[in-house]
Amino acid sequence: MTEPPRLTVVGAGPAGLAGALAAAARGVRVTLVDAAEQAGGQFYRQPAPALGARRPQALHHQWRTWERLRDALARHRAAGRITHLTDHHVWCLERESDAGPVTVHALRGPAQEVGVTVRADAVLLATGGYERVLPFPGWTLPGVVTAGGAQAMLKGGLVLPGRTVVVAGTGPLLLPVATGLAAAGARVAALVESADPAALLRRAPALAAQPGKLAEGAGYAARLLRHGVRTLARHTVVAAHGTGRLEAVTVAALDRDGRLRPGSARRIPCDTLAVGHGMLPHTDLAETLGCTLSGTAVRVDAEQRTDVPGVWAAGEATGVGGAALALAEGHIAGRSAAARLHGTTPDPGRWAAADRARTRLREFATALDDVYAPPAGWADRVPDGTVVCRCEEVTAGQVRDAAGTLGAGDLRTVKLLTRAGMGWCQGRMCGPAVAGLAGCPLTAGRRPFARPVPLGVLAALPEKE
Ligand SMILES: Cc1cc2nc3c(=O)[nH]c(=O)nc-3n(C[C@H](O)[C@H](O)[C@H](O)COP(=O)(O)OP(=O)(O)OC[C@H]3O[C@@H](n4cnc5c(N)ncnc54)[C@H](O)[C@@H]3O)c2cc1C
Repeated sequence: MTEPPRLTVVGAGPAGLAGALAAAARGVRVTLVDAAEQAGGQFYRQPAPALGARRPQALHHQWRTWERLRDALARHRAAGRITHLTDHHVWCLERESDAGPVTVHALRGPAQEVGVTVRADAVLLATGGYERVLPFPGWTLPGVVTAGGAQAMLKGGLVLPGRTVVVAGTGPLLLPVATGLAAAGARVAALVESADPAALLRRAPALAAQPGKLAEGAGYAARLLRHGVRTLARHTVVAAHGTGRLEAVTVAALDRDGRLRPGSARRIPCDTLAVGHGMLPHTDLAETLGCTLSGTAVRVDAEQRTDVPGVWAAGEATGVGGAALALAEGHIAGRSAAARLHGTTPDPGRWAAADRARTRLREFATALDDVYAPPAGWADRVPDGTVVCRCEEVTAGQVRDAAGTLGAGDLRTVKLLTRAGMGWCQGRMCGPAVAGLAGCPLTAGRRPFARPVPLGVLAALPEKE
């Protein structure tokens, strides 16, 4: 008997789960690798079992879909079709030739000191996205967290980041964060959204094509009202204040061009600021394999294939668009990979429903992207003394000097001149801010490793690797 083909799926969020299940159901032996302790990714992030959550569904929507994914994963694992490696952080992918196996290098466990290697005939990258963090005076104070970070504390740790919270920035993620925190008992002092509601109206035809999403938005609006959360649209946080930790934020209104309206600043006392300015795709692993990017996302074809043979990508890594889009893309990727690994040409007619959903949801995501961009002029408002790269303590003034006086025209040169992005996070946090301040495009980092690796793990690799 011949061995079934092998597929490694990196990421067990909606995209990776849908891909793994679709491939496993079609005779592929799947290894599902994820840094988290449980499947679910960001959207279906689960509380640690030791916390004994009695009603985890209270913190989620679309719980039925999660139950279906979770139960199908359990069935495939029991049947030996899927191996789920939890708490495995992939730091590098490599391939000797176009047709050769893909080697996945991971670090296991919370200390990330044990090296693990998985080989497969193909790989599906479903590594999700990360939040865009933009600086302002006081953003490094304890008590300032990202919006997704606040959500992760609640969903994964069942804890509130504070008692009185301001949720701020821009993007649809702010809605579940504000309503989730309020429902869990936090006082949400304000939801500060920089987008202009008129921009939503201008996009009405594209948005109306997704009535389900509109209903979801209306549901959030109703919950915000019920919890008495004040919404300040076309406003932005200009500073966070506190001695030792956050005590208040100053917010101000924006005019139609994204400039601060004089005299509109007001101070809101709070102990937590949950702030986010949208999401960006996680592309490090795709970059190590040489996949072409389109803007900031991995470029894929109609089958979710990248331009590197044997490498598929799905979900936020290929463009930010929400969990439903990630599910559709993952499903298509899994089916395509299964067919190709069995040596057949896939018939897209068999995933027509997922294809239609993908088209609609991508259009919706594009419409939202235009509405929820960071406010124009945010970079001009960051004072020179504000730290931008917190790993290397590089200020906005140093970045401006590198771009202005020293003539740096790209992110890499700014990094070499200032050390911005050379620290532990390798620019994953500060990259968008440094690019904005320097006035250069946000380009891929081209790092050989997706995360810091202990020297002992590198030394233990066979010589040719
Ligand atoms: C912090 C955060 C909070 C969010 N909260 C919400 C919300 O409340 N509501 C909402 O509608 N949308 C939310 N989103 C957006 C939502 O997560 C996505 O739309 C959806 O989850 C995308 O699915 P995905 O499978 O592409 O990625 P994800 O769900 O992000 O899954 C990616 C998975 O890949 C794993 N991974 C990444 N890199 C590696 C690596 N190198 N090694 C091993 N594993 C790796 C991660 O651990 C993760 O489990 C949030 C996003 C973020 C970043």
